[in-house]
Parts: sequence; C-alpha cells; structure tokens
Amino acid sequence: MEFSKETKNKNHNIEIWEKVKNRLRKELGETLYRSWLKPLKLKKINNNTIILSAETSLVRDRVERQYTDRIVSIWASEKPGINDLKVSLEGDKNLSILKDKNRINNKNIIQNSYQSDKITNNEDILLSTLDKRLTFENFVVGSPNELAFAAAKRVAEAEFVPFNPLFLYGGVGLGKTHLMNAIAWVIKKKDPSRKVVYISAEKFMYQFIKALRSKDVMNFKQEFRSVDVLMIDDVQFISGKEHTQEEFFHTFNALVDRGCQIVLSADKSPNDLSGMEERLKSRLGWGLVTDIQPTTYELRLGILQSRAESSGISFPKEVLEFIAQKIKSNVRELEGSLNRIIAHTTLVGKIITLENTIDVLSDVLRANNKLVTIEDIQKKVAEHFSIKMSEMFSARRSKSVVIPRQIAMYLAKELTNLSYPEIGRNFGGKDHTTIIHASKKIDKLLNENSNISEDIRLLKSILSN
Ligand code: ADP
Ligand code: MG
Repeated sequence: MEFSKETKNKNHNIEIWEKVKNRLRKELGETLYRSWLKPLKLKKINNNTIILSAETSLVRDRVERQYTDRIVSIWASEKPGINDLKVSLEGDKNLSILKDKNRINNKNIIQNSYQSDKITNNEDILLSTLDKRLTFENFVVGSPNELAFAAAKRVAEAEFVPFNPLFLYGGVGLGKTHLMNAIAWVIKKKDPSRKVVYISAEKFMYQFIKALRSKDVMNFKQEFRSVDVLMIDDVQFISGKEHTQEEFFHTFNALVDRGCQIVLSADKSPNDLSGMEERLKSRLGWGLVTDIQPTTYELRLGILQSRAESSGISFPKEVLEFIAQKIKSNVRELEGSLNRIIAHTTLVGKIITLENTIDVLSDVLRANNKLVTIEDIQKKVAEHFSIKMSEMFSARRSKSVVIPRQIAMYLAKELTNLSYPEIGRNFGGKDHTTIIHASKKIDKLLNENSNISEDIRLLKSILSN
C-alpha cells in the first residue's frame, strides 16, 4: 500500500521524536528520562511548533519549564525551522489506543472471570493478559526445551539486551507462551517502571488495522515505539499480511535501534515461515533463534509430577507413567488429561487407578495412538520385512528393499500428519514425487495383491499399539 504524504510526514516526525528522546535519555540519565520525557507523547507539528502531550500537569509544567530549549534545539538540528514547543494535557475525550486497550482488557476480564488466576494488564503491560501461573518456577526443564529456557531466563535477567530478537519457535503447546509470560513477570518484578508489552501477533494486527481506520496510526506507532520490552506471540499469524508486516518491520527496527528487547514466538523458524517478506525473515533471524523440540517421555513425566504435586491430589506412580507414555502430542493435552482425572475423582469420588484412568481418557488415548512417528514406521516395517533400517534411507533399487521402503512411505502418509516433502526428507532426502509415486503404487498393489494388504493390515495394527 502506498503511504500518503501526510503519513510519511508523520512517520518522519515520529522518527525525529525518537531520536530526540534518545539523545535526552543519554544526556539526562535513565531516571530523569523516565520521569519526565518518557511519559510524553508526540501529538503533531504545527507551524514549526512541536506539540507534545502529557498526562499530568506536573509533567507538563516541568517539561515546558526545563526541557523546552533542549528539545527544540535537538529537533531543529534534525529539521531546521522548528522553533517552539507546547505541551498539552491529555484530555478525557482523547481516545488514545491505551484506553481502547483497557476496553479490550475489560472484556477479557469478563471472559476470563471464571479463571481467577488470570490477571489483566494495567496500563503498562499493554493489550494482553499475563497468566500468573506461567513463571519460570513452574516451567519444567528437560532436553527438548533447555536451550529455550536458558535463553528466556537470560533475557529476563540481563542488564543489557543479550540478543535481539530472541526468537522462540516450536509446535503447539510446547511452552512458548509460557516462557514469554515468565520473562514478563521477571522484568516487571525487577523494575516495575519498565514498559513491557506482551501481545499476540493477531492483536497487534487488529490494533494496527483499527488505528489505520481511525487515522490514529501515529498514536499506534508511539504506543509501540515507547516500550522497553516488546513480546509478540505467534508471529506466523502475520504471514501473508503484507501491510502489517511492513508496519511490524518498521516498529521492529525502531525498537532494536533504541536498544529495546524484542522477544518473538512462532510455530516455525524464521526461515521456514512462508508468506513473510525476505527482509523481515532475515531480520528476525538476527538475534538468537532457538527451538522447543517435541517432548520426551522424561519431560512429560516431570511435568505430570510437578502438576500432580501442586494439585494436592495423590496420583499412583503408574498412572503418571502411563499418561506420560501415551499422551505424546503436547503439554497442553497432557495437562488437560490430568485435569480430567482430577475432575473425575473429585466429582465421582473414586480413587485414581490405572484402570479408571484408561476409562476416563479413552478418547484422548485413541487420538494419541494415531500419532505414530515416522521413525516407528520405518523401524517396524524394516523389522517386518527383515531388512536393515538403513535401507529405508538408501537409494538401492533391488525389489527386496524397494517394496518395503514404499510401504513405509505409504504408511507415513497414512498415519502421520507430515507432508510429502517432509516425508521425503525423512527417507534420506528423497524428492516429494518419489513419495507420491510410492503412495500411488502401494494403493494400487493393495487392490491387487492380497499379501501386501495383509502386510499392511498387520503393520497398522502393530503401529497403533
Ligand atoms: P505454546 O505457546 O507453545 O503453544 P504454551 O506455552 O501455551 O504453548 O503451553 C501450553 C501449556 O503447557 C501451558 O499451560 C503451559 O503452562 C504448559 N507447559 C508447556 N511446557 C511446559 C513445561 N516445560 N513445564 C510446565 N508447563 C509447561
Ligand atoms: Mg502460545
């Protein structure tokens, strides 16, 4: 989208305002800066006069008295002609984004009122609710997430920005949002005056579009550009949304230049995010990119033990072990299962046994059974046909290995959620057309050759146990 001349001017003014603030921040030091300059907002430039607004008359008077000359002179060095400054008081009729945010939050309170441990952000944690439960203390660390955990802690505790951005990625329900919340809590606790913004990419976009519509983009930019720590969750959401990406890119650059810490999460690494502009992708990968791997049995058991403990209900060891073994999809589902058992026992008053666990969780267990890994498939198929596992990845074309390999490819398509290219990569880097060809071929053989259909029936039943 083309920006109008007016918008460009506004952008330019905002940039100068950021520069001026930065200069003063250096000149005056952090404390004075936070007390007097940071609360100011740029309203507009009117006939060479800078119009700022303050929320209190204390700030207004002090700034007008003490900082007018300095602000004007720095400004004039960027844009000759500027020669005066006025600070207005922010009136009630002025519907700033901040107020809109509070409205949204009020809605959140209503929506979340049944969850007593959710808190709504006040004026300085904008837009999204932080969950009190989501702290570092409540995060169970294991090999799949230890790097992400360490990086998040480092960002939360560092005096200076250690890497920018911190980019966390991984599948659904593996703890990205948890770590971001944890970072926010630590930073807020250490220094409540720091402005921490935690927002989902979806809300970021929503706010941006709303600002565009109400011609309030300047305010929007200022809101975001005056933060100390910006965290945007689920960045994949703005894939394909060009205009939001554009705005995000500028906000991002402005913040990084100012030394503001940025933390992002997504379901894929920056490189694998489709529908993202190249320059944005590359910018996202500048800092530290760290993934959260799917859970292991040990991690799942650790999480279950810690949750069981804090629930105050005693679970037999074999029940926790059983759940950890069977429910592999993600932590959210793991917790859901535990909660269901807790609800069931407290409502029905039965003691928890392995037997009634299986009963209560039957549908979840069925769904999880379907989640076979590609490695399982390759292993079982190799065993079944007495060939070496390495033949699954080789390019050898003798019939004794080609058919088993094709069966494994076929089963991978049938039993996992992986795409053809992904399956290809897992078979020693084969092209997706090879996998498609294998799938079709086995499909055909299934109808013609009763031995093969028997093999496949057997393999499927082995793999679903
Ligand atoms: P994501 O944002 O990656 O989709 P979440 O952070 O929302 O996942 O995590 C889903 C649920 O699982 C949350 O309730 C979170 O507290 C919990 N969870 C995830 N990983 C862990 C962990 N390592 N230790 C404790 N709880 C976890
Ligand atoms: Mg999340």
